[in-house]
Amino acid sequence: MSNKTVAQRLLGRGKTASLAAAPPTGVTLKSAGEVESLRQAGRVVGKTITALLRAVRPGVTTHDLNLLAADEIKRMGAQPAFLGYRGFPATICTSLNEEIVHGIPGNRAVRTGDVLKLDVGAIVDGFYGDAAVSVSVGAVPARTRELVDVTRQALEAGIRAARPGARLGDVGYAVQSVAESHGFSVVREYVGHGVGRSLHEEPQVANFGVPGRGLVLQPGMVIAIEPMLNVGGWQTRVLDDDWTVVTADGSLSAHFEHTIYISPTGPEILTAREEV
Ligand code: MG
Repeated sequence: MSNKTVAQRLLGRGKTASLAAAPPTGVTLKSAGEVESLRQAGRVVGKTITALLRAVRPGVTTHDLNLLAADEIKRMGAQPAFLGYRGFPATICTSLNEEIVHGIPGNRAVRTGDVLKLDVGAIVDGFYGDAAVSVSVGAVPARTRELVDVTRQALEAGIRAARPGARLGDVGYAVQSVAESHGFSVVREYVGHGVGRSLHEEPQVANFGVPGRGLVLQPGMVIAIEPMLNVGGWQTRVLDDDWTVVTADGSLSAHFEHTIYISPTGPEILTAREEV
């Protein structure tokens, strides 16, 4: 099933009339069998995040959480997607407060008042799942709670917009509108992405955009939508560990992510999980 071109796939489905609308090179449409593998990878990611959320409490270290995730992913017969990815040294990303994404687990203990971001990826049968969640630990200021809630709402708005026939600009606009209506900024330098046999495929899925612009979403596409919202400005910088991305102004940041299958009837969340 691998390395079929988009045109071949469309022909195989008897959709020759849609060839003119074939997505650009690099954007793949997944077969039903491939979607099922992606669904399994997404399920592992969802269950792992649920286990992590149950374990988050003041005093737990990000290293403890990393070990838990590694155990869960292995127990479910999957492989971690991030470990070794471009040299990343851990199973999950753990980012605290002004850290936006790609934080490396370590001996730092989570404290009351922290905003912790957990980003998890898993591989099943060669297919990837990718999702992230933000959690506020214990009592936090109202604006912190609002940041986390609004980032989740921004992801939900992006997912709702990810219907067949819609465009990537509609998705980005939906995310950005929710964020900016609450006075939060949207990170520009990091974006969502296609997901499949690679963690990061085409297309890039920006969290900002103009309605009606960009790639037309087609049934069979699988994308990760992952808004990153800051209390302050959208600018970022990378710490000396070459991984951890932080807000340039030190303001708080939140991040949510789901891997989404564009089904013929609408978006399906492949990394869905139980509420904790
Ligand atoms: Mg991602």
